[in-house]
Amino acid sequence: MNRKLQDLASRLLGDTPAHEQAPLSVEDKLRELSFNLWWNWHPQVLEMFRQLDPAGWAETNHNPIALLKRFAPAARVAELSLENTVSFHYRRLQEYLRGEGSWCDAHAGGLQAASIAYFSAEFGLHESLPLYSGGLGVLAGDYLKSASDLGLPVVGVGLFYATGYFRQRFDPTGWQTEEYGHVDVAALPLRRPVGADGAPVAIEVPCNGETLHAAVWLARIGRTLLLLLDSDVEANPPHLRGLTARLYGGDQVTRIRQEALLGVGGLRALRALGIRPAVLHLNEGHSAFAILERARERLEEEGMSFDDALRETSLQTVFTTHTPVEAGHDRFPADLVERELGWLRAALRLDPEPLMALGRANPADRGEPFCMTVLAIKGSRRRNGVSSLHGHVARRMWRPLWPGRDEEDVPIGHVTNGVHVRSWLALSMNRIFDRYLGADWPARQSDCATWRPIAAVPDCELWETHEVLRRYLVDFVRRRAGRPGLLDERALTLGFARRFATYKRGTILLTDLDRLARILGDPARPVQIVFAGKAHPRDDAGKKLIQDLIAVTRDPRFGGRLVFVEDYDINVARHMVQGVDVWINTPMRPMEACGTSGQKVVLNGGVNLSVLDGWWAEGYDGKNGFAIGDGLVHADPAVQWARDADSLYRQLEEQVVPLFYDREGAAPPRGWVERMKRSITTLAWRYNADRMVADYVRHGYLAAGGRLSADW
Ligand SMILES: *Cc1c(COP(=O)(O)O)cnc(C)c1O
Repeated sequence: MNRKLQDLASRLLGDTPAHEQAPLSVEDKLRELSFNLWWNWHPQVLEMFRQLDPAGWAETNHNPIALLKRFAPAARVAELSLENTVSFHYRRLQEYLRGEGSWCDAHAGGLQAASIAYFSAEFGLHESLPLYSGGLGVLAGDYLKSASDLGLPVVGVGLFYATGYFRQRFDPTGWQTEEYGHVDVAALPLRRPVGADGAPVAIEVPCNGETLHAAVWLARIGRTLLLLLDSDVEANPPHLRGLTARLYGGDQVTRIRQEALLGVGGLRALRALGIRPAVLHLNEGHSAFAILERARERLEEEGMSFDDALRETSLQTVFTTHTPVEAGHDRFPADLVERELGWLRAALRLDPEPLMALGRANPADRGEPFCMTVLAIKGSRRRNGVSSLHGHVARRMWRPLWPGRDEEDVPIGHVTNGVHVRSWLALSMNRIFDRYLGADWPARQSDCATWRPIAAVPDCELWETHEVLRRYLVDFVRRRAGRPGLLDERALTLGFARRFATYKRGTILLTDLDRLARILGDPARPVQIVFAGKAHPRDDAGKKLIQDLIAVTRDPRFGGRLVFVEDYDINVARHMVQGVDVWINTPMRPMEACGTSGQKVVLNGGVNLSVLDGWWAEGYDGKNGFAIGDGLVHADPAVQWARDADSLYRQLEEQVVPLFYDREGAAPPRGWVERMKRSITTLAWRYNADRMVADYVRHGYLAAGGRLSADW
């Protein structure tokens, strides 16, 4: 087990060693529980916090640290007679942290003495920690939680965004506006690590003739650590203090500086904490400068040539690419790269052109900008897309980097994304799993045999549980909208929530409004749709899509059966994926690299209705959900849109609605429940983040680990 990481964390965060501890007070225990995000995927701990102050729990956005500031904890615990509960959960956390007999012990012993640095520009861990914008971040958060559960010695590396990502608001015309708040660090589970000299750890990175300083924050995510860099420190001139204020805010200069801080600064911060990672895992290309920084260290410490240093570094580096969308790959012009990273180039003893060549598909093309994805590919030996189909797409996309090779010989594989099960699972579904799969099912979740007993769950039990979850969603939507009469608790409820990027075709359901009105408006078989999602602040096309959608939700023809929930975040996502009957996903194939929200739906008994793209292209088996289209792609996007719209309506009219409403008296819809069960048994074992992390260990880390030393 990763004892080393735990010991290191205790030392850095100034914990009192266990053997010197006086018996801990209730306050101390609560504090420890609130400062480790472990509580987030342990529903009983969550329930304990909620019990302490139910109103405060909602008002603090489910933030236990903020919650505990609202009252005197010891008195409240005594009043509610929760002393034993607090002690029980505290002991559970300590046992978890000791982590004896973890998956890592059994399957990846070689990694125990090492550490894995996982770099990501965003981490989506909980709604109270706004370090994410969407899927990439939520994936990174789920990855850390599963790495923790498996006992893998991982340190996440990211940036601390003082204003987080924006909150979505609307003007009266339905146009999205962005609101940036200020995050109260004192209410977040972050602490400043202290170095050997007793001072808080800080790092420096050269920045266009000046020095960029950054403070380091640490968060505990179960057994893993998350390290965050923060430029808002007094040592910085004012124009650099705001560098990390916003996630994906600002221009190209801000962007390249944030990425230099993430990659170069991230590695320096690990060093400053005494961590020498054996594996560098780059989650998307934003952090690829870490490769150059690691090569620089080798050059300087081991006296290697640049070529040798780059080769050695690539052997320890795993790179995951996440999107076929062009705008998802950062490209910087040569003069900007030289201005911002000329110091690093000089330290690598390179001329400007050879450095630029590392970021170019065609090194000889002097007009080509510097692409972070290309650097990440050239500086890593293990590279992967995030679904089987996306693996193909990525090989085609990056084939020019290997001139003369066939597409199938391009060395980019795939690891399909998965979700952290207990972060997305409703408590009532968790209880069903405990009862029918055995209480140790979480540790066996990636084994398909684990899920077979779902077939034996009585239809009534599964159906009634799901009906309650739908009711929770309806309540949630009503509360958020401030309209008590909205929606129908018993109607077939479809959900659609995602970023409003054009390729996701968020308005495809509106293609034929009369046909849609007929589907939704049948009094005997009512259907309703809940929408949510943000557009990027600078994406006016995306904002227009949302505006069109909001206009339709106000159309009297739909009689309140279409609603748009404002400010999509992890909290909204959790309610939606737990309460919908059907999850709709309509990307333009093959642009959705994976998609993970539909996987969250599966766990809660919802069923997918999706284009055969991303994970659904490999997950759909003909009976475990519904498909839009047949997986073929027409060259003309307008034709493809029309075909997919027709297929979507047809699926709803001919399959989804009839199956859902096929009832005998008050009995559950048998065919529908069968499909729910088939969805869980065929998909849950595979599309979870434990399986994903185990795949990274087997196909990435252990391979890099052939060369591992216990070199911390
Ligand atoms: C799961 C999740 C996503 C990713 O979902 P996609 O299927 O990739 O669209 C994005 N945002 C939030 C808040 C999520 O919870």
